[in-house]
Amino acid sequence: MSAIILNGKELAAQMETAQAQRVRDLQARGVSPKLVVVMAGDNPASAIYVRNKARACERLGILSDTIHLPQTVSQQELLRVIDGLNADPTVHGILIQLPLPEHLDEDAALLRVNPAKDVDGFHLYNAGSLLRGEDGIRPCTPQGIVRLLKSAGIALDGARAVVIGRSNIVGKPAALMLTQENCTVTLCHSHTRDLTQITRQADILVAAVGKPRFVTADMVKPGAAVIDVGINRVDGKVVGDVDFDAVSAVAGFITPVPGGVGPMTVSMLMENTLEAAWKASR
Ligand code: NDP
Repeated sequence: MSAIILNGKELAAQMETAQAQRVRDLQARGVSPKLVVVMAGDNPASAIYVRNKARACERLGILSDTIHLPQTVSQQELLRVIDGLNADPTVHGILIQLPLPEHLDEDAALLRVNPAKDVDGFHLYNAGSLLRGEDGIRPCTPQGIVRLLKSAGIALDGARAVVIGRSNIVGKPAALMLTQENCTVTLCHSHTRDLTQITRQADILVAAVGKPRFVTADMVKPGAAVIDVGINRVDGKVVGDVDFDAVSAVAGFITPVPGGVGPMTVSMLMENTLEAAWKASR
């Protein structure tokens, strides 16, 4: 068997037509959607992600700005910048690019963002709304995963889903969103016993571990949909958490790295920004 590739790059590109139209609809109502990214220091990976986000905005006609604070910025100054963006009615989305330099309190910074502008969906209010299944802004990566699965016509209702990784930005929200889609979800982590026995039961297997080629073919149920969230650099090459070649021979569907979940994450950020702008304009 050779798995069908879930091409996130292609899907994200297709979605841009509707997103660009939404930008024009908002502009017709006198609203120019705007995203502001706040970054501090010179993390090279962050710089690449920020550039990708700015380019996506540009393609759609979303205004974007990056506030690049020095590595030594104080917590007080960071919070002052966030307060300014919260108060600015022309700004619809605020994104704090993580990680922040170590001396800064990341949680306090995320908590300071107005939840209505929290387009990453990391604020406690939005995390709580996800937990309760209520309206709110959903984190981009899990949202992209669900969108990718649905676009391929993969049945979620009643499916057995296993998520490896329990971070607040990927694993936990992915488990909650799949639960909301009526999957039966098992959330695994570094203390999980008999991981392979669990993953082999998964109709949908999400790997968000951060370890290159962690998921091997023997961990995958034949025909399963395997979603590789990992971004790992090995010998200058980006690889995922899944042993792509071997797992493709067993799985029914698989996301490539790069070109799978990554572009969908950016695409969902655009959706969240447009939704925030639309809500602000009502
Ligand atoms: P974290 O490091 O925050 O979380 C990793 C998780 O993996 C933890 O919950 C950890 O368990 C678990 N884990 C580690 N080792 C094992 C093991 N041996 N068995 C089972 N579970 C294990 O990572 P993130 O969630 O932030 O990111 C995961 C990956 O996804 C990274 O490669 C990151 O770069 C990538 N990423 C990609 C995005 C995209 O858009 N494509 C977006 C965000 C992240 P424990 O909690 O017990 O320590």
